[in-house]
Amino acid sequence: MNSFLALRSGKMHPPVPDYRSEYINLKLKQFIRQGNIKTWPLDCVEMICKMKKTGEYGIQVVKVVRGLPDKLDASTHYDKKTGHYAVLINRSRFSYPFQKSSDRRLNFTLAHEIGHIVLEHLILNCKSGSNDKLKYMDEAEADEFAARLLMPRELLCSLNYYSVSQAAAWLNVSNSALICRLNRLNRLDLITSRKVESCTRCGNIRFSAFAEYCGICGHYLPEGRKGIRRIYYPDMVSMDSKKRSLVCINCHTNIANISGEYCPYCGTCIFNLCINEACSYANPAYARSCEMCGKPTGYQKKLTSPCIVTNIADIQPFIW
Ligand SMILES: [Zn+2]
Ligand SMILES: [Zn+2]
Ligand SMILES: [Zn+2]
Ligand SMILES: [Zn+2]
Repeated sequence: MNSFLALRSGKMHPPVPDYRSEYINLKLKQFIRQGNIKTWPLDCVEMICKMKKTGEYGIQVVKVVRGLPDKLDASTHYDKKTGHYAVLINRSRFSYPFQKSSDRRLNFTLAHEIGHIVLEHLILNCKSGSNDKLKYMDEAEADEFAARLLMPRELLCSLNYYSVSQAAAWLNVSNSALICRLNRLNRLDLITSRKVESCTRCGNIRFSAFAEYCGICGHYLPEGRKGIRRIYYPDMVSMDSKKRSLVCINCHTNIANISGEYCPYCGTCIFNLCINEACSYANPAYARSCEMCGKPTGYQKKLTSPCIVTNIADIQPFIW
């Protein structure tokens, strides 16, 4: 039986060497693809329970236990005979759901333990033995895995930092984990960078001058423009400056030069009108919800597969 203990050392590990950094990225990408992870923030309590349920990576036991030494957050054990893992979490360090910055430390700890498993540290140590230097490097790698998993670079670059604690709370990590990651990325400047108005519910950054509601999720805006996420939701169709569609959203015919308000080929309205007849406001091309009343727009209804982008990963690939 080989095991890893997660200690609350609080100090930053040295950077991992380049070739190991690439290996971590490779394993991380596989892990994200296999787990079908598409939206952040991540909750590793849910994630590790799901992994146990499906038996992924050989995780057979995830248990909250009493009596572990206080300085220990969690420990992972590997049985080389069966190839199974057991992850034990210290009850006295366990606070869930995450509320305070210190509670959210558990999320990082579990991501770190998952890192040991995905990077196969325990398997390798069983085969070729281990020494203190190797163990120290393994700890650095598991930390790096956890930081990249919970806080992808592109995601961090797409946040509004009204305060570090607000951004850390949104990410489900402790304030110090976020600062550590920004520091490692050399992007502490993000904390003081310009804020961009965004919807608190969906992160949308596109608003018309008089918008009362978010054009993506329909959230009432007066109190809701200081979101953490910043997401650019693309147009559903191209339009001219008078909000007339240049291509029919239904039959995709070029209708740039037609007169009237309907597509001459299929009869679809050339405006993205609110479906609420009492409102019937002509919305911009990105609007899935009416910016005047929050009800769905006609074009949102028309699309058989609504192109609502719920995650930045759908717009641009993540770079760790
Ligand atoms: Zn560890
Ligand atoms: Zn919204
Ligand atoms: Zn048409
Ligand atoms: Zn409306």
